[in-house]
Amino acid sequence: MQPASVLQPDGWALEVDASGSPPIFEVECTSCHGSCDASNDVDSIERDRWCIRHARETGHTGYREIRTGFLRTVAHTAEERGRHGNA
Ligand SMILES: [Zn+2]
Repeated sequence: MQPASVLQPDGWALEVDASGSPPIFEVECTSCHGSCDASNDVDSIERDRWCIRHARETGHTGYREIRTGFLRTVAHTAEERGRHGNA
């Protein structure tokens, strides 16, 4: 598991963005690129059902699980915050 934030020597850090959407999960068929509805639920039963229904209808059995997470750079020094208008 990656740390939520890694402060760089120049005073900047890359952090998990907690101000917006949580991670979004979806699956995509590796044969036709069809996909289910995206969800914030990592264990979505609807996603599982979509894959099984898609396999029955098409014979496609391979899927790619896609996780979209959001990150934000943050200045941790007053000088850097001032330079970018977020002091
Ligand atoms: Zn397919």
